[in-house]
Amino acid sequence: MAFKHKLKRALREGYARLLFHTGLCALVDKLMPPRLTILAGHCVRPASGEWPAGEHLPADMSIAEGKLESFVRWFGARFELVSVGAGVARLDQGLRGKSLVALSMDDGYRDNARVLAPLLVRHKASGTVFLESRPLDERKVNWAHKFFWILARSSPEEFVHRFGELSKDQSAFHAMNQMVSEGRADLRYHLKLVLKYDAQPAERDRVLDALLVELGGDERALCEALYMSWDEARAMARSGIELGGHTVNHPILSKLASHEQAREIDLGAKSMARELGAPARTFAYPWGRRWDFDQNSVAAARASGFSCAVTMHAGVNTPKTDRFALKRLAIDDSAQLHLLAAEACGGFELLRRVGINLSE
Ligand SMILES: [Zn+2]
Repeated sequence: MAFKHKLKRALREGYARLLFHTGLCALVDKLMPPRLTILAGHCVRPASGEWPAGEHLPADMSIAEGKLESFVRWFGARFELVSVGAGVARLDQGLRGKSLVALSMDDGYRDNARVLAPLLVRHKASGTVFLESRPLDERKVNWAHKFFWILARSSPEEFVHRFGELSKDQSAFHAMNQMVSEGRADLRYHLKLVLKYDAQPAERDRVLDALLVELGGDERALCEALYMSWDEARAMARSGIELGGHTVNHPILSKLASHEQAREIDLGAKSMARELGAPARTFAYPWGRRWDFDQNSVAAARASGFSCAVTMHAGVNTPKTDRFALKRLAIDDSAQLHLLAAEACGGFELLRRVGINLSE
C-alpha cells in the first residue's frame, strides 16, 4: 500500500511538472471543457507586522501572504478570478469561455480581513470567506483552537495525562494514551483525530475549558487574536468579497441528529443575515470530508437558503457537478503551484475521464 501511495505521488508530481513547465497546461485548458476550480485555505500569514493567531496554529492552517499573492497573480493571468457564489452562478448558466478560479478561506480569521482583503483588492479579484458565527457573535472559539492553544503551552504527553485525570471519557483517554506509549509520529495530529471523531463532545469541551483556564488562557482574548469582528466582515463584503455560512460551532454535522444539524446551519445563516443585511448563498461543511456531512446536512443547507455547498475533496467543478458537493483544492504553505495548475487547467480531470485518479 505504501508503495502504491508513493508511486501515485511520483506520477502526480511528474505529470503536473510536465504540464506546468512545457506549456501543455495552456493546451489542455483549451481542450478540456470550462471548469470552476475552488482553492481552500484558512489563515494568511502577513509578510510584515504582527500575526497574533500564529503562535499556536498548526502549519497546515496558514499560507504566507507572498505565496498566496504569487498564486493569485498566476491564476489571475490565465483564468477569471471569482467568488464561489459567482462561479456557481456561471456553472448554472452552462459556463462557456474562460475557466474560473475562486479563492475561498474558511472560518473567518482576522487576517482574512487585514491581509487577504487588501490583497484581493490589489489584484481586482474577488473570493469567498466562510464564517463560523459563534466566534463573531460571542467571542468564543471552537474546541480545536483551545486544543492548539493548550498544546502550544504543554507537551502532547502532558495533555493526555491531564485529560485522563480530568475526563470521565476514559475510552478517549485510553485511545490517546495508547498513541503516546507507542511513540506515534505526528502525535498532535492523531490526538486531534481522537478528540474530533471519538471523544464525547460535551466532555471533551468541558476538559479543554478547564485546561485552558488552568494554563492561564482567556477565551475572549484567544478569539480576538484569531477571528475577525462583524465590522471587519461588513468591510470585507463592501470590498466585494463574498461571505458564506459555516455553521455556529463548527461541528461534525454527520454526528448530529437532523434537527441539531438544521439548528447549527440555520442559526449561523440567521446571524449572517442579521449582521450583514443580506442572506448568504454559499455554505461550507465544517471539516468538509464526505464522512463529515450527510444528506440531512444537504437538506438543512437548502432549507436555510444556501444554493451550494463546498467540501474538502480535491477536484474541479463543471456544470454537471452536484452543487452541494463542490470540490476544492487545499492551499497552505506546502501547496505547490504546479499541482494546483495541473488541476485548474483540467489536467487531472483529463486523467479521471480515462479512469486514473491521481489527486487523492
Ligand atoms: Zn472550518
